[in-house]
Amino acid sequence: MNNIPVQPHQYTIWPKDPAAHLFEVRLTVAQPDAAGQVFALPSWIPGSYMIRDYARHVVTARAESDGRDVSLRKLDKSRWQAAPADRELTLVIEVFAHDESVRGAHLDQTHAFFNGTCVFPAVVGQEEAPCTVDIRAPEKPVGKHWRVATSMNRQDAGQYGFGTYRVEDYAELIDHPVEVGELSIGEFDVGGIPHAIAIRGKTRADMARLCHDLQTICEHHVSFLGAPKDLDRYLFLLNAPGKGYGGLEHRWSSALICGRDNLPARGEEGVSDEYRTFLGLVSHEYFHLWNVKRMKPDVFTPYDLSQESHTELLWVFEGVTSYYDDLGLVRSGLIGVDSYLELLGQTITRVLQSGGRRKQSVAESSFDAWTKFYKQDANAANAIISYYAKGALIALSLDLKLRSETDGAVSLDDIMKAAWQRWGESGIGMPEDGFELLCAELSGLDLEDFFDATVRGTGELPLEALLKPHGIDYHLRLSAGGKDKGGKVQADENLPRVWLGAVLGNRDGTSVFGAVHNGGPAEQAGISPGDELVALDGLRISFDGCEARTRRYHPGDKSDITVFRGDELMTLRLKWAEAPADTCYLLSDEEADSAAKSRRNLWLAQA
Ligand SMILES: [Zn+2]
Repeated sequence: MNNIPVQPHQYTIWPKDPAAHLFEVRLTVAQPDAAGQVFALPSWIPGSYMIRDYARHVVTARAESDGRDVSLRKLDKSRWQAAPADRELTLVIEVFAHDESVRGAHLDQTHAFFNGTCVFPAVVGQEEAPCTVDIRAPEKPVGKHWRVATSMNRQDAGQYGFGTYRVEDYAELIDHPVEVGELSIGEFDVGGIPHAIAIRGKTRADMARLCHDLQTICEHHVSFLGAPKDLDRYLFLLNAPGKGYGGLEHRWSSALICGRDNLPARGEEGVSDEYRTFLGLVSHEYFHLWNVKRMKPDVFTPYDLSQESHTELLWVFEGVTSYYDDLGLVRSGLIGVDSYLELLGQTITRVLQSGGRRKQSVAESSFDAWTKFYKQDANAANAIISYYAKGALIALSLDLKLRSETDGAVSLDDIMKAAWQRWGESGIGMPEDGFELLCAELSGLDLEDFFDATVRGTGELPLEALLKPHGIDYHLRLSAGGKDKGGKVQADENLPRVWLGAVLGNRDGTSVFGAVHNGGPAEQAGISPGDELVALDGLRISFDGCEARTRRYHPGDKSDITVFRGDELMTLRLKWAEAPADTCYLLSDEEADSAAKSRRNLWLAQA
């Protein structure tokens, strides 16, 4: 809009009733639309590709001007229009906040967390105006020791304090999640840019070590792609409850959730599997600060937050990020090569065990993320492939292929650096064919068949052939059961030789069928997702005892499987099949020649 008012929009957010999970938000517009100001809440939040209709959590809405009520009309699920007002107009809403995910808003007596998408309506037509945000404390005695953590710039607030913050426009307003509560805060520096981590939760974590490790990751990524010109601060907001996992990227911050015991205690040495997962999450969200928060698909420039925005490129923005998150851990020295290969083996296993890879390409998975990947039903394992996991393996394949076929002259690192130059800070979105054309342009290779097969097709990735010349041996083995994520060696002799063709989950000690694989023994026997497994050949079976019992069968054996479907008991006839070798582990090939070893070192060394 060219009619930018001089006065910023003034937002005030107040934890009005923590016990009822209600925020009060006031928004004052100095020069409302003379035809009647329209206000709108987003239907989705950038980074999480699902329609969430945040306005559904608005409990009450009213408007006032000059001390008098102004009528307010609901236009549709997300918009309100006030009657014309010739002076300052204030919208007042109450928002129910009881979603503890990184995409939502949550308020209780222990803390407040919110994304702007949940609580701050846009002033339609004036989205480019600057805004102030007054973050108020709850009424005592709640919030006595609360501090405020957000990457918003302070206008009239002490560091980590309540008070007024400011942003350039609405897009920035919804890009700064805010955590308010009893926080542990650690600060560190990355190339002169102040960074911080604010943790909510009784973690008793080793803050000095966290700061050191996060600094190592951030420095690695900054040295790879260079600090964006507008990156003048960065904040990790970490919610650490008993358990949980998730992250959402923003331009100057990220919101993370991990289980409190996943963080290292003081004095603890080494990197546990859980801490390695947390470091991977940190690395992932920080890499997004380039890949998707600044460099974006064309269709996201600007975001249309009122409806779905389809792109086939989520595999580039999430898959490539998923490749560089763990790669960043080994390249920066936080984990060793064997540990990295274990993580890669787990990603390969995830893809191999997903039958959906034969039905859906990552281009389709990206496009349909809104209604498929984010809304998985009982058939998801048969119909959907993750653009994260397979996208990461396409990135790996592309990287190794470029390195091999250009004799080390061009790698995916070069592609990402060039992509960042082209689309990173220019404000120009990446066209749908942009990434693929850039790969061909930089490498001089004809990559059409590769992209046809891996991105637009459902063929198997040639990982074994690509890893071998880089001194890595690819192995497949049988699965040890539901908890076996792959990545580690296990001798086949000790593993179950038969297969049900279904995933069993644990519900209060009983086994409940989750995904039932197309064409597998369970499906052929007539087992449905949701069936509760009661007995195998007349003997009661518990979740924990299931795997041991399975080992007593051989391919071709037949069994009576007794299940509850709802409250109906039924016995089905199952024929056990031979278990597929669908679990991957990778090993450094110590017999590899020096050329392969040198390629491996170049790949896994700092870019
Ligand atoms: Zn991501």
